[in-house]
Order: sequence, then C-alpha cells, then structure tokens
Amino acid sequence: MKCIKCGKHEAVEKGLCETCLWDSMNIELPGSIIEKTCPKCGAYFVGKGWVHKDGQQRWEHKIIEDFAVNEPFKIIGGEILGKNKQGNYITIKITVQREENDIKEENFDIPFVKESISCPTCNKVTGSYYEAKSQIRGMTGEITNEMERIAKILINMVDNNHKNDPESFISKIEYVKDGFDIYLGKRKDGDTFAKDMKTREICDIIVSKTLAGIRDGKQFFRFTYLVRVLDFQPGAIIFLNNKKYLYQGKSSYGIYLNDLDNGREVQINKKAINFEKILATGEFASKRTFIVISRENDECNLMDKENFNQITIKGDCKDNEISLFVLGDELFRIRGE
Ligand SMILES: [Zn+2]
Ligand SMILES: [Zn+2]
Repeated sequence: MKCIKCGKHEAVEKGLCETCLWDSMNIELPGSIIEKTCPKCGAYFVGKGWVHKDGQQRWEHKIIEDFAVNEPFKIIGGEILGKNKQGNYITIKITVQREENDIKEENFDIPFVKESISCPTCNKVTGSYYEAKSQIRGMTGEITNEMERIAKILINMVDNNHKNDPESFISKIEYVKDGFDIYLGKRKDGDTFAKDMKTREICDIIVSKTLAGIRDGKQFFRFTYLVRVLDFQPGAIIFLNNKKYLYQGKSSYGIYLNDLDNGREVQINKKAINFEKILATGEFASKRTFIVISRENDECNLMDKENFNQITIKGDCKDNEISLFVLGDELFRIRGE
C-alpha cells in the first residue's frame, strides 16, 4: 500500500510512509523553563517542592518530562545543551523514537528564567526555628570537660544527619552558667540523642514538653531533653543514698566508689543509680605521691614525699612511685593505678 499522503512511498504505519509519518510529529514544548534555586544550600525547586539531594539532576530530568509528543512517537531522552548569551533562552535536545531503530533528535530554544530564593529549610535555620532543645547539665553546677564531650556527640550527630536531611540542624547553642542549651530543628534528633545517651553513657534524662502554639490547626509542642551527665572528678566526695563516698571514676558498667565508713571499694551498676539520691558535697580528696621503699608479700612500704612519714598499704605496687587519694588520715588506692 502506498502512503495516503504523498502516494509515492510504501506506507509503514497509519497509512503513512516513513517521511510523512515523521512530518506528522508534533512536539509539545513547555512554555518556559524556570531554574529556581536556593542561594544558601543549593536546593532546586522541582515540580511542586524543594529538592535538597541531587536537585540539579532531578530538575533536568523534570524538564525533559515536560516535553510531550503525539502517537506513535515517544520521547526517550533529552539533554540541556546550553543557554544563549543573554541567558534568556535554553537549548534542549530531545530524542524521539518511532520504532526501535527509527530515532530522531531535535533541538529547541525555550524561554528561560533563573530565580534565586531562600528555601523554607534555610528560612527555618536563619529564623532560629526549633522543635526541641537539649539541655546538657552536670552534677556540680559547673561546666566540665565531660559535658563538653557529650555536647560534641550531639553536634556531630546532627551534622551527620544534616547530610541526608536538611531539616536536621542546630539553630542555636546557648552557653548558660551550668551547661549548654542546644536548639534542634528536628525533634527526632533530640529523641535519638536522649536514647543514645541512656544506653551509652551514665546520665539521667528528663523529657518535658511545652505548648508552643497552633500550627496547621493542631497544637504544636516543643520538647526539652534534660540530659544530666554524671561528671564528678575522680577524688570527689559525693553523697549517695545519704551516705558519703569517694568517687573513683566510671566505665560503661557503672561507677566505682570507696565507702567512707569502711574504705571498701563499691561498684554500682549504672541502672541502679538514682539521680535524685546522688550529689556532690563540694569536698575532694587530695592526690599525693608516695615513694615505694619496699615490697613484702602482699604489702608495700611507702614514704610520703611531703612529710617523709612511712606507711604500709595492701596490694602490689608496680612502679617506684604511687599516687593515693588522701582524705584526712585515710588513704585510698586510686582505681587503675
Ligand atoms: Zn508519504
Ligand atoms: Zn536552602
């Protein structure tokens, strides 16, 4: 059968020859192309929303999707070739397929607009938006290295989450007299951090919420995660369940103490610590160095470097000198030494 249009060539589809068929192709173009990006984070506006990951790729993909073609053709690809000098036109190559081995490419110049506008996420950051607050506090009312270490864990965690989720951010860090208040863009970060601290560290966590307003017709709450870090210095004298102890240190298991009534070493599992019943007395044992003068069986004879008094302690002494905690007349071996 000959082509119904030109009558010259053999018809291949819809009564038309290949040439006349391609002549019937009609590509529908987008009216204009807008490249809307955020100058702060580089996010792209694609379709109906902001895209923070692979924004440019997704935007380019969407441009090609906005081209349409009549049957029996199919758009199988496209490419941005560039912009004109004035930057008000963009050239796009569109690849159209009729049959597997019948493919054509065509270039189009489309009106182009570039817009730069801060995205809602960046507006949240600059507007000091926050959903949660993590208050890091210690046991003594003073800022300690231990509290700084814990604060850094939270800051690193949020920085890491931010890579995949721009809504994870810290909008403010406040240094207060007895600790840090870290304001979080995303409530979930506060929650994750609190759970992580509970399993990995020795601390007490109190969660509270306050009504912050109405958003989208619903009550909107802000959460506070009070993280009280057990940050006594080794040698501190503490009260635990109304008894006095010398604090030796902590591990992932719990805390190590000396009972000041009898000098005995006590280990307390972290799950058994009641933070309502533990507090600093403000007193400290001093640390003094002794020279080991002799070793016998399971005892060592020591000499105080300050006053040359000689004493005997139980246990082995590996080095030629040893440090002990001194509290009044009492001496305590330092855990791990
Ligand atoms: Zn024809
Ligand atoms: Zn942004």
